[in-house]
Formats: sequence, structure tokens, C-alpha cells
Amino acid sequence: MQTFMERFAAIYTPAVLGAAILIATTPPLLGYGTFSTWVYRALVMLVIACPCAIVLAAPIATVSALTSATREGILFKGAQYLEAMGKVRAIAFDKTGTLTHGRLRVTRIMALPDAGATEEEILRLACAVEAGSAHPIAEAIRREATRRKVATSTCGTTTRTFSVIEGRGARAEIDGKMVYVGNADLFGGIDYLKTRRLIDASISSDGPLIFVGVKDFVFGAIWLADQARINAPETISALRKLGIQRLVMLTGDCEAAARNISAAVGINETAHGLLPEDKLEQIRSIIASHGAVAMVGDGVNDAPALAAATVGISMAAAGSPAAMETADVALLTEDLRKIPYAVAMGRRMILVIRQNVFISIAVKVGFLGLAAAGFSTLWMAVIADMGTSLFVVFNGMRLLASPKNSQALS
Ligand code: ADP
Ligand code: MG
Repeated sequence: MQTFMERFAAIYTPAVLGAAILIATTPPLLGYGTFSTWVYRALVMLVIACPCAIVLAAPIATVSALTSATREGILFKGAQYLEAMGKVRAIAFDKTGTLTHGRLRVTRIMALPDAGATEEEILRLACAVEAGSAHPIAEAIRREATRRKVATSTCGTTTRTFSVIEGRGARAEIDGKMVYVGNADLFGGIDYLKTRRLIDASISSDGPLIFVGVKDFVFGAIWLADQARINAPETISALRKLGIQRLVMLTGDCEAAARNISAAVGINETAHGLLPEDKLEQIRSIIASHGAVAMVGDGVNDAPALAAATVGISMAAAGSPAAMETADVALLTEDLRKIPYAVAMGRRMILVIRQNVFISIAVKVGFLGLAAAGFSTLWMAVIADMGTSLFVVFNGMRLLASPKNSQALS
């Protein structure tokens, strides 16, 4: 809107100046009336046409709204993203680290008897591979290894052979073998795991279930528990009340874990088992069907989706540096309720700017009419002009206060 106003002013201002000069000079030169009458009329017209209020309509409101959002711990990389927040019709959420704390806990380790490994061995291998990873799963494994005192020298330093398998897991060479840690897709899929009697057990998991093994052979599994953020259900219902048409959870995790968390937070549309590029694809299709879409993520395996969304929101407090870079908005707290707040704030900002533009144009047009009919004096014009400018400024500054309807949320 502001960009539009600036373009408008760039044409409007010189046009009005030109018209004023013509009004002041042309009629007297042609012999109609005196110069003093026409210069006075040109001045009245200039004062009325002064675009102060129109030019101020957007910036004051924008700065006030951004200030207010920043005080709440929501950092916008530009006002256009706040405007876009006011227009979003769909919001997609990442699961791990976004809807959940992402502070996972290892709940169970299972070593398959035929693999000849112990629980400690499974944990040690997993920890050695994950030494180089910043994924919440890796952190949980390192914590558990420390707790059970299996942390050895191999577990703590990144090996040269470490590599991330995006959205699936990681691998590294340990004791001369390439060891894989990650979801079922890394190990010949569900069918293989069924024959190893691992999948049945996974159905009851309330967090990610990961496997440890070499390329075609699983040694064991590690169950992790994750918890939905305490504010997540409240956030989802607040967004529904705000009329957001579509709320979706996108996760790379397995179906069981996805179902658990979506039920806990009250989202009824989920897509699971997604790779980073699948999340991107989902965002593109939501954009195609709903127009403006916001994506909330922590940047671990969802940076491409954050970048593709109309507004990418990162959980900066919990998120990765990648999320901070690609996102348009950063939440400086881990409080998800800032999202409905941002939607409400964006809508209020749009409304205030529209009011400002409407009032200033209406007053200008009205007074130009009066002036043309010869009813307006210079002091009336000055009052009308200053009046609208002040109105626009004060109306914009209302946004410094928190929106009433989201007071309950903050
Ligand atoms: P989400 O979309 O829920 O945030 P991710 O896309 O980050 O989840 O991860 C999807 C799945 O890939 C995880 O549930 C896990 O099974 C596997 N995974 C990803 N990274 C790792 C890792 N570093 N170690 C083990 N498993 C991983
Ligand atoms: Mg995540």
C-alpha cells in the first residue's frame, strides 16, 4: 500500500503544483479578474491539495504496528510481511521444534537380538553418528548418551565422513563401517522392518522412532518422546476464530507421531513422511489453492518451505540459523500465540491504512469542490488540511496499543 501511495504522490505533487501555477497566472493574463484574486485561489487550492495526510496515511500506521509487534517479540523483516500476515488464508506448521518443544527425550532403546548388539552399543553408535548433527533428535541422543555415561571419545566430535540425509537421518563412518541413523526409509522401508518385528512396536510411539544400522541391516531402534507445546492448542483455536480457512501440519516424522501431535493440538489436516522438497511442494499447492499462506518452522528440514511461503515465520528462539535467514518473520519467544497476534495486528494495520486513505481523499475532494465553487477561504483550507493530517497521525498511532481481541492471547 505504501509503495502505491509513494507512486501516487510522485505524480500527484508536481501535477498539483503545475495546476496552481496555471490557476494563479492564466485567468488574469487573459484578462479575467486580478492577480491577487487568482493567486489567493491558487493558494487555497494548494493548501487543500497538499498531500500531507495521504502521504502520512501508511507510514505512521506501519511504524506503529511494527513497533507494537516488536514489543511482543515478533520481528518483521519488512512491513509488507505484516500486511501479508493480515491477508493469510492458510497456515502450515512444521511439527518437530515448532508445534512441539523439539526437546526430545529418549524413552526406550531396543537392540535386536540377532544383531548381537547391546542397548549401550546402539546408543553409542547413534551418538557417534549424530555428533555432527543439529537436529533435535541428535541432541536427545547425545543427552541420553551422557546420562547413561556411554559417551566416549567418538561421541562428541564430528567425523569427516558425517553427512546429513535431508529429512531422513544421518550417516557417518564408525569403526570402519558406514552407520546410518534415521527413519524407516533408510532401511528398506516398512516391509523390511515388519519382518524384523520393529514396526508393530512403533505404532504406539508418541514421538519419532529411529533406527540404527548399516545399509541393509538394522541393529536396533530408539524411541523418542516429544511434547506438544503447551500453547499450541490455544494457538490453533485462536487462528480458527480469526477465520483462517486451512491449518495444516507438515512433518517428516512417521504417521503415528504425526497423528499424536495433530490430535493434541487440534489440527485435522496433516501430511507425514515429508522430505524438505515435499514440504516445499505442499506449500506451493496451498499457495495455488488459497493465495496467501504462512509457514511456521524451525528451519531444520523446512527452510525451502519457509522461503516459498508468502510469509515464512521462524521460531528464532528454538530455530536454526538457516531459519533466521530464510524467514520473513522471526518469533523471538517460543510462544506460538504470537502468530494469531500477528494476524490480528496485520488486519488492524490494513484497516487503519484504509481508513486513513479514505478520510484524507474524501476531505480533499470535498474541499476542492467548495473551493471551486468559491466557498472556501484560506483559513478553512488550512484547518481542513491540518485536521486530516492530525487525524491520520493519531489514527495510525492507535496501533501502538495491543489489539483488544488478542489481549487474551498475550
Ligand atoms: P519435522 O518435519 O517433524 O520437523 P524432520 O523433517 O526434521 O521432522 O525429520 C523427519 C524425520 O527424519 C524424523 O522424524 C526422523 O525420523 C528423521 N531424521 C531427520 N534428521 C534426523 C537425524 N539427524 N537423526 C535421526 N533421524 C533423523
Ligand atoms: Mg522441524
